Amino acid sequence: MPYPFRTDKIATYGDWDTWTQRGVTYRMFIAGFVAKTLGIAVPSDSNLRSAMTSAYVSHGRWVADCPEECGGALVVTPSDPFFFCTNCGSGWHRVVFPSRAKRRQIENVLMKRPLIGGQPKKRNWFTYESVATLKAQNKVAGII
Ligand SMILES: [Zn+2]
Repeated sequence: MPYPFRTDKIATYGDWDTWTQRGVTYRMFIAGFVAKTLGIAVPSDSNLRSAMTSAYVSHGRWVADCPEECGGALVVTPSDPFFFCTNCGSGWHRVVFPSRAKRRQIENVLMKRPLIGGQPKKRNWFTYESVATLKAQNKVAGII
């Protein structure tokens, strides 16, 4: 099976599945998925939980972990920076993204990294890493 996510860019929710091409927004996806799998209604997104979560890049995707530390993680998008855990069903949480300029810098450095077995396994960024750190990692790996 080919890698199911985009490899031509660092993907966000809006990039990686065909549902979005049919007009299924992140919130519609969450509401449908959660209602179906957890059997609970998704609460109003105007009722945000106080815990926030930070976006990071994992295998070429912008993702965030559940702030309730249940182990759940989802692909997220800066155009609608909210998270609803499909694992534990916690409420809506705000997702903190780096600025647009910093995201672009991070993505540009990561996109120079080659695919491994057709997958963007080396395209990772953690919130404690600077863009300079990513560039240094590329240099050590022989990527200019
Ligand atoms: Zn959770």
